[in-house]
Amino acid sequence: MIIDCHGHYTTEPTQLHAFRKAQIAAYESKSPLPSAATLAISDDELRQSLEGAQLKLQRERGTNLTIFSPRASGMAHHIGDAAVSLAWSRLCNDLIHRVCTLYPDNFIGVCQLPQSPGVELKSCVGELERCVTEFGFVGCNLNPDPSGGHWSGPPLTDRVWYPLYEKMVELDVPAMIHVSGSCNPNFHVTGAHYINGDTTAFMQFLTSDLFKDFPTLRFVIPHGGGAVPYHWGRYRGLAQDMKRPPLEELLLNNVFFDTCVYHLPGIELLTKVVPIDNILFASEMVGAVRGIDPRTGHHYDDTKRYLDQVAWLSAGDRQKVFEDNARRVYPRLNARLKCSCGCG
Ligand SMILES: [Zn+2]
Repeated sequence: MIIDCHGHYTTEPTQLHAFRKAQIAAYESKSPLPSAATLAISDDELRQSLEGAQLKLQRERGTNLTIFSPRASGMAHHIGDAAVSLAWSRLCNDLIHRVCTLYPDNFIGVCQLPQSPGVELKSCVGELERCVTEFGFVGCNLNPDPSGGHWSGPPLTDRVWYPLYEKMVELDVPAMIHVSGSCNPNFHVTGAHYINGDTTAFMQFLTSDLFKDFPTLRFVIPHGGGAVPYHWGRYRGLAQDMKRPPLEELLLNNVFFDTCVYHLPGIELLTKVVPIDNILFASEMVGAVRGIDPRTGHHYDDTKRYLDQVAWLSAGDRQKVFEDNARRVYPRLNARLKCSCGCG
């Protein structure tokens, strides 16, 4: 089985965008927010939005199950206030639940959290619990910078985040560290802001004792870990200079990297540098980079092809990257895959 741990619902029916537009307009004009009941999307429309996209690509590329969450750039925690963020997150998570119910063999849910700059995480704890216990979701996306590129909040290691981490540990679910849109023109969303977020989160973890406080807390850093694998020596050296433990001891029981690196040399570097036990297969399709690489004739985000070409990976290594590591990092996914006859 091949589990893709990073997929977003980027092909949503247009009604969802219209709803969001109306919601923001209502917030800005201080009018009542539109009710979720005003959004009408049929099951057929959901099917149509997926059949020619994510489902077709799963079939063509030979992957099986995508860990699926709302569009990351659409979370836009910097827009509106806590009430807007909560209503929008619930709506987006409800939609993911419908998709996962329609295609239980193809998608399993991960939720968006109703973060809002400067607002405590109480509603995030509640929404995570709702999605995990009511919908069977297996994780969440956590935005390290809900200000949208201004980094005005405290680092992920600050105690303000602890209520959420306590709930994650209690529910035994990981978070993917995932920024959303950038409202700072210095940072292109997917080309700079995303990679900054990934790299920044790793360095925050490196300098803290967060995993002493939460030994079983787990994070997936997407987009191949941002700049981290390329600069692994820098991070090892920084940890050493700061009298921190070696990275293996400091954070590799808790921090994992996906494979959303869109060329073979990048995947080769990732698999050489980062321990195989810490790499989870992912493509982020249909996502940030949608084109075909003229040098290979294949989609940039067809990341399985790169892994298939890495000569030094053993069959056991591939099994870990494609399936076993995801089952370990997402225990609720593993539990769901174990069918009642015991064959899973
Ligand atoms: Zn993503």
